[in-house]
Amino acid sequence: MIDMQNNKIIFAGAGPGAPDLITLRCLKAIEDADLIIYAGSLVNPEVLKYSRKSCRIIDSAKISLGEIIDLMRKTVSRGEKVLRLHTGDPAIYGAIGEQMTELDKLKIPYEVIPGVSSVFASAAALKTELTAPGVSQTVILTRQAGRTPVPHGQEIANLARHGATMAIFLSSGDVNGLVEELVRGGYSPDTPASVVYRASWKDEEITRGTLNDIDSKLKKTGFIGRQAMIIVGNALDRDMCGKSLLYDERFTHGYRKAVKTAKPVFPATTNVFSNRKIAIYAITAEGAETAIKLSSSIKSSKVFLPFRQKDKFDKNSGTEFFGEGKFDEVLARTWNKFEGHIFLMATGIVVRKISKLVDSKTSDPAVVVCDQKGNFAISLLSGHIGGANRLAKFAAEALGGQAVVTTATDVQNLMAFDEMASIEGWKVVNPEKIKVLNSMLLEGRKIGLMIPRDIFNKYYSSKKNLSFLSSPDKISSGNFDGLVIRGKQYKSSRTPVLLLK
Ligand code: SAH
Repeated sequence: MIDMQNNKIIFAGAGPGAPDLITLRCLKAIEDADLIIYAGSLVNPEVLKYSRKSCRIIDSAKISLGEIIDLMRKTVSRGEKVLRLHTGDPAIYGAIGEQMTELDKLKIPYEVIPGVSSVFASAAALKTELTAPGVSQTVILTRQAGRTPVPHGQEIANLARHGATMAIFLSSGDVNGLVEELVRGGYSPDTPASVVYRASWKDEEITRGTLNDIDSKLKKTGFIGRQAMIIVGNALDRDMCGKSLLYDERFTHGYRKAVKTAKPVFPATTNVFSNRKIAIYAITAEGAETAIKLSSSIKSSKVFLPFRQKDKFDKNSGTEFFGEGKFDEVLARTWNKFEGHIFLMATGIVVRKISKLVDSKTSDPAVVVCDQKGNFAISLLSGHIGGANRLAKFAAEALGGQAVVTTATDVQNLMAFDEMASIEGWKVVNPEKIKVLNSMLLEGRKIGLMIPRDIFNKYYSSKKNLSFLSSPDKISSGNFDGLVIRGKQYKSSRTPVLLLK
């Protein structure tokens, strides 16, 4: 009688290629095996040299699933040890599922040994962190639909919507088509894209580029083929990535206490708000303390607190105290008098309180909400023209917290046109066009900008889809999807134009 429990079939990941990237457990399984069935096209045959002289070695590429199972069954029933070697980790496109189902039917036991997937060997080759703080906290492992279709909803364009890091397997056949789908899904054409060909093998090759140029670069180098991993996302650009909160000095976690005086995570923004009229509101005692701390960084700010905080905070000159139930009245009075409002309280309270006062994107003041400790500063309203995104960053810096900004252009690290206008002190003549032009910016469409050269260079010089226009006669030749023009009247029946003055 054969001891089936001790004579399991072993599925093991043989790693991405380099023979010293197999696990010790896989090595032992190779040394012990009587029969090794391996994916000949991808597993490095060098790992087979650890096997016994008597071990039979079979390339699975040459036989069918039925034949593989039959071979496994016959071998284990003789009491011999069977090892099935997969490339990388067997759980990713390893087709182990179907083999295990057949073994279940035959009641043949098995075990799986994990391996180093080519996605991680590729990340190592690129020296990149796939989950970069502030940029992507998600990695999507996927493939383009080929002869194997992908289920509905999992098409590349659909997955691209998340802006996460994408590691794309089995898709070297049509990089151009892949890029088109990624851009259609929402990645801007200047998103970094890298291809690692034969990661960890002796002839490993890396091609770095953007979605714009990766296909043409690969056509030149030829470093593409069945063993190529395509990785896309802003995480590949280390300059775009923030620092991990885990190692930030101000972040307390299980093993370390925060250092209160350390520098904020965000780089210094211009101190534009230190002279603006900003109203700061709090309700609780802790919130009041944070409010007063914040007001000390903004010269022309005013703090508003409820009467019950009067005893404790009366010495703080310039603070206004309001009676029970009078918060709405205070807000109705201050709403248009201040350029920005910072609330140190729950977001829900603020949303309810300001809902009656909100009017339009072009005239509403900036609204920022912070928790009472000042850990987070959320830009809630008028992110660009009103400057709430900048005010949130400013408040976060002043309080040693983190700004939370959600407008799409900021998330993609693009300077929105209305934000640029606001920073440069310009006015938007036709605000109804802001959305159209900013969407085009996000989609990587072709836009011509007739604005001062130095301003263009400051914000947009690295963007290939944006062109600087020195004079109106350059417009017709450019075939632009949209235009941004400062200081001149320009009428176009077809092309949307954002006018600034
Ligand atoms: N189970 C494997 C993936 C098998 S699918 C793993 O975990 O890595 C085969 C695909 O994996 C290839 O088309 C290619 O996209 C990728 N791949 C496998 N080995 C690779 C390597 N050494 N370098 C880059 N990509 C590799």
